[in-house]
Amino acid sequence: MAMSVNGSAPAEVDVVVVGAGFSGLYMLYRLREQGLDAVVFDEASDVGGTWYWNRYPGARCDVPTVDYAFSFDPRLERDWTWSEKYATQPEILAYLQHVADRYDLRRDIRFGTRVSAAAWDEAARRWRLRTGHGDEVTCQYYVMASGCLSLPKTPDIEGVDRYRGEVYLTGRWPHDRVDFSGKRVAVVGTGSSGIQCIPLIAREATRLTVFQRTPNFSVPAHNGPPPADRLARLAADRDGYREAARWSRGGIPMEITDVSGVTAPEDVRRQRFEAAWQAGELFAILGVFNDQGINPVSNELVAEMIREKIRAIVGDADTADALCPKDHPFGTKRPCLDSGYFETFNLPHVRLVDLRRTPIVAITEDGIDTTGESFEVDAIVFATGFDAMTGPLVSVSVSGMDGVTLKDKWEHGPATYLGLMTAGFPNLFMITGPQSPSVLSNMVVSIEQHIDWIADCLRRLREDKIDRIEPTPLAEAGWVRHSQDCADITLYPRANSWYMGANVPGKPRVFLPYIGGVDAYRRACQEVTENGFVGFRLDGPAGSRCNDGVIRRLQPDVAMVLDLMASLELPPMETMSVADARAFIEALAAERPPGPDVGEITDGVLPGPAGDLGYRLYRPPSAGPHPLIAYFHGGGWVLGSQDSDDPFCRDLCARTGAVIVSVNYRHAPEHRFPAAADDAFAAAGWIAANAAALGGIPGPLTVAGWSAGGNLAAVVCQLARDAGGPEIAGQLLLTPVTDADLGRPSYSANGEGFVLTAALMRWFWDHYAREPDRAQPKASPLRGTLAGLPPAVVVTAEFDPLSDEGGAYAEALASAGVPVRHIRARGHVHTSLTMVDAVISGAPVRAEMAEALGSFWPEPVLG
Ligand SMILES: Cc1cc2nc3c(=O)[nH]c(=O)nc-3n(C[C@H](O)[C@H](O)[C@H](O)COP(=O)(O)OP(=O)(O)OC[C@H]3O[C@@H](n4cnc5c(N)ncnc54)[C@H](O)[C@@H]3O)c2cc1C
Repeated sequence: MAMSVNGSAPAEVDVVVVGAGFSGLYMLYRLREQGLDAVVFDEASDVGGTWYWNRYPGARCDVPTVDYAFSFDPRLERDWTWSEKYATQPEILAYLQHVADRYDLRRDIRFGTRVSAAAWDEAARRWRLRTGHGDEVTCQYYVMASGCLSLPKTPDIEGVDRYRGEVYLTGRWPHDRVDFSGKRVAVVGTGSSGIQCIPLIAREATRLTVFQRTPNFSVPAHNGPPPADRLARLAADRDGYREAARWSRGGIPMEITDVSGVTAPEDVRRQRFEAAWQAGELFAILGVFNDQGINPVSNELVAEMIREKIRAIVGDADTADALCPKDHPFGTKRPCLDSGYFETFNLPHVRLVDLRRTPIVAITEDGIDTTGESFEVDAIVFATGFDAMTGPLVSVSVSGMDGVTLKDKWEHGPATYLGLMTAGFPNLFMITGPQSPSVLSNMVVSIEQHIDWIADCLRRLREDKIDRIEPTPLAEAGWVRHSQDCADITLYPRANSWYMGANVPGKPRVFLPYIGGVDAYRRACQEVTENGFVGFRLDGPAGSRCNDGVIRRLQPDVAMVLDLMASLELPPMETMSVADARAFIEALAAERPPGPDVGEITDGVLPGPAGDLGYRLYRPPSAGPHPLIAYFHGGGWVLGSQDSDDPFCRDLCARTGAVIVSVNYRHAPEHRFPAAADDAFAAAGWIAANAAALGGIPGPLTVAGWSAGGNLAAVVCQLARDAGGPEIAGQLLLTPVTDADLGRPSYSANGEGFVLTAALMRWFWDHYAREPDRAQPKASPLRGTLAGLPPAVVVTAEFDPLSDEGGAYAEALASAGVPVRHIRARGHVHTSLTMVDAVISGAPVRAEMAEALGSFWPEPVLG
């Protein structure tokens, strides 16, 4: 039972919640619903969080307010009407005050109280919290609803304390109206807050000087009444609308385009961009093209169209140029929505100072000195942002198991499980913590999702008589890696943004939020609980249990490809006729990105043992001669051609600087074993003999192949060794078939659901080789003699039925004294590494592969 004396802190509760913004209020509501004792602490003197503190002129939300609102109670929605598309701070604060009153939440909130320290007492299984007033409160569960953007970054500029004029921090704005009339004002910082307040301050000030370190992309909000289309959709089907938001990418119902910026015609590009510009919505401008977040070319198209707008709005060419962001891809720093921001610089009393040209030297008693000029001002407004996401969490001295503090644990970057909990800190929950969608989403949707998850979790723990929950190190490491994998396929880590911690000196540079999408994230959280709290250790009086594991192991873009393929409900290839399977592969090939440009591509024929064989040659743009690679395509000896592996061959050529000769060998079932192997060996001999004419460096040849082509490359090396030629410099075996034994563990672990299935592999073998022939080294090179073979690069994919035989071949080669580099492609499937420009996460693996190939050749040729 909570003990509360005269509104002071109770000594013992079930749950302490820190923060009384959107998160703290809803958390308290849900805890009460379950009959739990809870107390909320906030430094502020009232509810509101962000909307309590950020009272600067122009402060508004930048997600449409009808979406940026609670959805947990339809009656609350019915009784509240927003006046604008993007409501102002006073209106959002009034809404949160209304929520607090409506559900009688204030009686359990202690305002003006900072939580300064928290320590886990393992023996008592309690958190012991200390407040700024010196009170100690113990609780079973501790919830940090302390916000992502609640710790303003104070200006770290020399002389700031010396200044005698008025100083304002946008994130800690006074409650009384600030009047800038008749004043010379400086605004330092042009992030979201700066961009919102500058037009309004300019209306009052006699002179406004804007100090800009980094220009930001901003689009006009076109504010006005709440959008009629959204209101109509809500009125027609509120539940459906809110559910669509919960399962959307960003927390707002939105259709995702399939238009690629790279391939769309110019008129379509323009039309889509203009529509997004007119919509005045962040998610619209972030979704002009489906590839703008991952493809620099597509991104630059949007970025340049925004720059064109800036140049068209701002009269002075130099000022316009300084306002145009050029140092980061669009969207990789949080873009802004504005109301007349760029237009403000056309006013005669407003001036922009570009700090990249003339940095601030110091703040003086009277104003600001840059390397170029001194500015006397009556007031300085610092819009210098926040120590985002981790700042509010580590600013409390939180010590978990063995006294380790959160700050120490996160010294090199935060590590969480689902952004909700962190190993070593039992019973501590974070709302919108790092590695959750948080600041990349409509935060109210993310807040509700986190709180619903926690509330549901606490209910289940109580039902199961569990009193301690903690994520495992394995689960946490897996989530951190997955979160990083998601970021790595995007352009986001390229910017020095607060998403990366780059705005705070000394803060580790890691991408903080989860960029995989609100929908994907929600699915992961659901799967964790549905599958018995995967990755959590649960303890109670009756004992402990732990269903340890990693919830997401596939690379995110590989998972997307698999989801897409599953949604097409295609018949399994092994149920098709060979002709249909070939037609299907050709149809797929027509849809994919083409791969990088190379110097030249020509088709030719070479003599095979039973007639001419077609080949395609890829030449780098630089003057030759180049190293020479004979390449054999994949397709289970049944499917494929020079066309099927075209993007991969381009990529291999571009990355290695080698001439690639992709050989089309005879296919089964028309030509069964050993036709393909004989063709491959003959082709290798011909290519080596004609190296100079093909533009290659005469001498040892490199052979390479993917899948069945990897099998042929391995076989060619054995045949060449035994025949005394051609001389082979090295072999690249990409997810190769090396053995006809289909009983290896990877066949059962990865035999279904990862494109190449065990059944399909059996179909390939059945077409290619009679049972008795399969044991021959010419079909199963793993069964041959491996000593004396050329050096090898073997690439295996984690979710591939063939991963064990590829690994076995690498091991056997090494045991036989052959130099081997084994590259393990984490989170990949058999086919994903060759999906150039479609599966972005394959690129680093191909880069590593290309770098390893360089060791086959006498001189480094990598450009
Ligand atoms: C100007 C601005 C505009 C924004 N606009 C949008 C938008 O349009 N859409 C959107 O999705 N998001 C927006 N955000 C993000 C916004 O922070 C979230 O949408 C949301 O308000 C966060 O709610 P919260 O309760 O999680 O955290 P907050 O609102 O930040 O509340 C956290 C509270 O915790 C308190 N606190 C922190 N540490 C302690 C401690 N140790 N002891 C006691 N109290 C503590 C703080 O005083 C604060 O009141 C905006 C943020 C800012 C700054």
